[in-house]
Amino acid sequence: MRQTQLFTKTRKEAPSDEVSKNAELLIRAGFIHKELPGVYAYLPLGLRVIENIKQVIREELDTVGCQELIMTALQSKEKWEASNRWSDEVVDNWFKTKLKNDTELGLAFTHEEPIADIMKQYVSSYKDLPFFAYQFQTKFRNELRAKSGIMRGREFNMKDLYSFHTTKEKHLEFYELMKDVYMKIFTRLGLGDKTYLTMSNGQPFSKYSFEFQTLSEAGEDIIMYDKEKKIAINKQDYSEEMFEDFGFKKEDFNFEEGKSIEIGDIYTLGTKYSEALDLTYTDEDGKNIPVFMGSYGIGITRVMGTIVEVYNDENGIIWPESVAPYQVHLVSLCREEGDIKKADEIYEKLTAQGVEVLYDDRADVRPGQKFADSDLIGIPKRIIVSPKTLEQNSLEVKMRNEEESNLVKIDEL
Ligand code: ATP
Ligand code: MG
Repeated sequence: MRQTQLFTKTRKEAPSDEVSKNAELLIRAGFIHKELPGVYAYLPLGLRVIENIKQVIREELDTVGCQELIMTALQSKEKWEASNRWSDEVVDNWFKTKLKNDTELGLAFTHEEPIADIMKQYVSSYKDLPFFAYQFQTKFRNELRAKSGIMRGREFNMKDLYSFHTTKEKHLEFYELMKDVYMKIFTRLGLGDKTYLTMSNGQPFSKYSFEFQTLSEAGEDIIMYDKEKKIAINKQDYSEEMFEDFGFKKEDFNFEEGKSIEIGDIYTLGTKYSEALDLTYTDEDGKNIPVFMGSYGIGITRVMGTIVEVYNDENGIIWPESVAPYQVHLVSLCREEGDIKKADEIYEKLTAQGVEVLYDDRADVRPGQKFADSDLIGIPKRIIVSPKTLEQNSLEVKMRNEEESNLVKIDEL
């Protein structure tokens, strides 16, 4: 992508009402646009990051047999009444709207009810189970506070996966597998080191649920974590017996306390929603039994914000390779026609080789500004092409997270 064609520009300041680091940097670098507090548009650079995050998750989920679908944002009231989740007293963050004929609708804040309802069409016998279905979808939540940038949106993207099993035992096998799949995903996204499997309150089908909490000063949660055992407890749900339920004595733990961001969670739902929505199967004896469900969320836009919170310095964002909008930022300092032609050729060659390149081909911008923009945008590898490097048939290569740069022969690249 030629930067002269990219319609977004960097800016010196974020909106004055933006208090979070992630949104400040993402707005300044041109990844997102703030529509309202907690409501953001994803611009071309931002969308590429979102798609990269989704792709990592998709690959890991598909490997264990999950199937992707997309459900609807508009929701009929009846399904939510069936599970007693329509009332604003029960769910305090609904956005609701109406059809012209006054029929009430909800804007989905989650999808347990609709997916249980859909699956009624496809589940009748134990032979139809198990299966696992997920989506990446916009969720709407009328959050009271929206001060964490894209980490707490009123409209945000979530990956939500739902599992359908015959029994609790079979569910628990999959549930354990998902703990590993989640850690694999977060490791690929660059958050593995700082992310802890965290015990928090469950109910009604299991005493506990698990969250995936990433240590960060920008977090809204507090966890007590054991660095070596790589597990944590959400402080808000702390009770002595949790330790024993983890299989350890309290004295065995070496806990530190820290602020953290919940980037995902996994729930044993049991038969709560299948009973409410009448999602049942017949077992080998012909008996009708409610399907045993689980749900597994990851906040896609929250993960993006978390990555920015974890990976930045005073000059801007430092994207991990797996999610970066482009692999290479080719920065041209060439002004003479012949040099510009050579820089163009390098861009075209790299692109032809399948390297994703953002090419700063702007002729009227000073080198200092180009480097500042490049630091702000945060692409992991910068390649500088200038009259000086061309004299030596070379290019200067610098990693965003390193100080030193290297001259590399053009042929070797
Ligand atoms: P929180 O406690 O932070 O409000 P939650 O437990 O209500 O989150 P879930 O309903 O479990 O959230 O949603 C699954 C995941 O979606 C969360 O783990 C989080 O990563 C993400 N998420 C939840 N709410 C938001 C939001 N308002 N903006 C962005 N991501 C969110
Ligand atoms: Mg949660």
